[in-house]
Amino acid sequence: MSEGEYKVPIKEPIKTKDLDPDFKYEIADTYLGRHITACFKCGACTGGCPVGILTEIYKPRQIIGEALLGMREKVLTGGELWLCATCYTCEDRCPQKVNITDVIIALRNMAFREGHTPEALIEQARNMVETGWIQKTTASMDKRREELGLSRLPKMAVEDMQKIVKATGFIKYLYKKEDKK
Ligand code: SF4
Ligand code: SF4
Repeated sequence: MSEGEYKVPIKEPIKTKDLDPDFKYEIADTYLGRHITACFKCGACTGGCPVGILTEIYKPRQIIGEALLGMREKVLTGGELWLCATCYTCEDRCPQKVNITDVIIALRNMAFREGHTPEALIEQARNMVETGWIQKTTASMDKRREELGLSRLPKMAVEDMQKIVKATGFIKYLYKKEDKK
């Protein structure tokens, strides 16, 4: 093959022994994932997905297809799930009325419960619970705002949110044992 000629990317073949045939039923048993089995893999969701247009790795049809095939580990640990912008464009386009965005959220919930949430998102959730902002302000940010003539960001009332995360048990997912509050 001459230099510059297109090469088909070689992917690892799927091993049937690694598939979980019950995964699609596990998803369909959830309220948000209940329509997943109606997908006939037409690709209209991927064709209209704004995140898919900007990245090569995010394709909602592929996620739904892998989930239907039983690729549990790949879907829940692969990280693509967290790229969805929850814009619902895919749902408007799906001829089978699959609630794709909700399916993605159902899969995120499963991934979260099993500890596969990207650390950056956990950090944002912690910041939100502690300060009301997903990004904690720093001294240098305060200084820069002052230089620009901007007021300091206000302190947010987080007490009610902290009560909710404690009452729902969500808090145990935010802090590891060693740093639990
Ligand atoms: S648009 Fe609907 S039917 Fe087509 S691949 Fe996406 S989820 Fe499946
Ligand atoms: S909701 Fe997510 S998967 Fe659907 S079009 Fe928007 S970014 Fe893509």
